[in-house]
Amino acid sequence: MALFLVEFATPKKLREHMSVALSIKNLHKTYQNGFEALKGIDLEVEEGDFFALLGPNGAGKSTTISILSSLVQKTQGEVIIVDANIEHNFPLAKKYLGVVPQEFNFNMWEKVFDICVTQGGYYGLPMDLAKERAEKYLKLLGLWDKRSNVSRSLSGGMKRRLMIARALVHEPRILILDEPTAGVDIELRRSMWEFLRKINREGTTIILTTHYLEEAESLCRNVAIIDKGTIIRHSSVKALLRELNEETFIMDVEGSITDAPILTGYQTRMIDGHSFEVDVEKGKPLNDIFGMLNELGINITSMRNKSNRLEEMFVAMTRKNQAGKSGGDK
Ligand code: ADP
Repeated sequence: MALFLVEFATPKKLREHMSVALSIKNLHKTYQNGFEALKGIDLEVEEGDFFALLGPNGAGKSTTISILSSLVQKTQGEVIIVDANIEHNFPLAKKYLGVVPQEFNFNMWEKVFDICVTQGGYYGLPMDLAKERAEKYLKLLGLWDKRSNVSRSLSGGMKRRLMIARALVHEPRILILDEPTAGVDIELRRSMWEFLRKINREGTTIILTTHYLEEAESLCRNVAIIDKGTIIRHSSVKALLRELNEETFIMDVEGSITDAPILTGYQTRMIDGHSFEVDVEKGKPLNDIFGMLNELGINITSMRNKSNRLEEMFVAMTRKNQAGKSGGDK
């Protein structure tokens, strides 16, 4: 589905060799009040990926997204969307992207159908095609019977779906959604997830921002974790979950060691001649480890749990989400 635009945007030969949908290098943003929201982030998203930019409120997710769509000017760094540098070829970069911001930003007095058709025109689609696409996406998003209503009359959930339909009218290669399900009820969240999975299967690269680990876990293959304007992890969702399900203990030994002890079934790493660290699945009894150390003749004089920045961040995020539940999201 994302191919129409590319037919006139990029020569076919070139397209066959491209696999990076988004490349961000050393991106900085300092707002006018001097606040440094992005401190030099690097990010790469493959074509066809379902990617989450995950982080607590205030981490810099919206700032990043807004730079991609040129709503916010970067201070420094390079952003390439497919093969278009946003600085040198923004019109092409813009065509590759469909952006769904958090705030409803359509004309509240315009009819649902017209909002989508107007968007098609804005991206240079001939009128007939714009109408065809508007019908296609309004139907897919369950809004066809609302086509003649002014957008103001739609429920919150419908307005969100309209934002997605509008972003898809020009069939972008990459769909970017900023906190798509913040404040959305569970039923709508599930149906939105289903829809996003479907268009991803059909070839659209999807990048979403979220502060729900659950959302990244259910939908995404790869994830970057952003905190205080810095990317602190960039990995597959599977690897992230594995890491979150582990604890690391620092063990101090009696006497000295030359290597980290080999403990079957556990990852160990040397810290210095008197201590090493070991990764343990959460909740698993430690007897096993002590048994093996005993056999190796290694005595432990003290041990402590190494604090995990990722885990601390998620605990803090969960606390904030729960505190915010009565007052709504962000
Ligand atoms: P997120 O989307 O992860 O919640 P944002 O990108 O919206 O985070 O914000 C990152 C930081 O930048 C926050 O501390 C926010 O207060 C700050 N910020 C956002 N917009 C502006 C602005 N226009 N002027 C100054 N600071 C801003």
